[in-house]
Amino acid sequence: MASIEMKNIVKKYGDGFPAVNDVSMDIADGEFMILVGPSGCGKSTLLRMIVGLEDITSGDMVIAGSRVNDKAPRDRNLSMVFQNYALYPHLSVFENIAFPLRLAKAPEDEITQKVDTAAKVLELQEHLQRKPANLSGGQRQRVAMGRAIVRDADAFLFDEPLSNLDAKLRGQMRTEIARLQRRLGITTVYVTHDQTEAMTLGDRVCVLRKGVIQQVASPRELYEQP
Ligand code: ADP
Ligand code: ADP
Repeated sequence: MASIEMKNIVKKYGDGFPAVNDVSMDIADGEFMILVGPSGCGKSTLLRMIVGLEDITSGDMVIAGSRVNDKAPRDRNLSMVFQNYALYPHLSVFENIAFPLRLAKAPEDEITQKVDTAAKVLELQEHLQRKPANLSGGQRQRVAMGRAIVRDADAFLFDEPLSNLDAKLRGQMRTEIARLQRRLGITTVYVTHDQTEAMTLGDRVCVLRKGVIQQVASPRELYEQP
């Protein structure tokens, strides 16, 4: 678990107007932070800078107390869940979940134990030998989350993880993510443009517009505004 501190973060792509413009924000250890705002406001860019998939033009990104601006993604100990799940089609569910552990050269018994625990939490036990192509959208989403939770990551980052699901499943998975996050108590940053997700999942919601923070408030404070 870890805090995420952003200090005057700026991102410029080429010569254009900054996609992220002087963003400062502290996300507390164990906090669930939502990033919302219209398309193009800089949500994904901000998330990718936290993970290290995008260079920071200026400012400081501090995770678990250390500055990570120049750290490669694999050295940041974060788990990211993408919108399109990014599963390996040729690998079984078990191997998809185990992937980060294999990369870290974890011993076989630890891999088995951690994958089994994740599969249990996510109700995937009966599907461990199947391939992603034979799973429903919700099951694929669970596999992606399984892969995120088997690592003892400092934080979870979600980029619109539910937007490819139908409304019913989206509600179900929303509940599941909330339950999982509370159970693990892990710092989470979650990008969405879905109002319901923002209002029900977050401890706080950060509203971005044209790369600038408009407001950071609890869902209740946002809701009670005139
Ligand atoms: P959001 O996730 O809120 O939709 P993005 O972070 O994807 O916003 O984009 C913020 C701004 O940065 C947009 O104007 C977008 O066109 C621009 N942008 C995003 N990625 C790139 C890129 N790789 N190259 C150039 N401009 C980009
Ligand atoms: P999102 O749905 O997360 O807002 P988009 O669909 O806008 O993302 O963009 C998808 C990909 O295209 C991202 O990797 C982003 O970096 C890239 N991208 C977005 N805007 C631009 C742009 N103006 N120029 C180049 N690449 C861009």
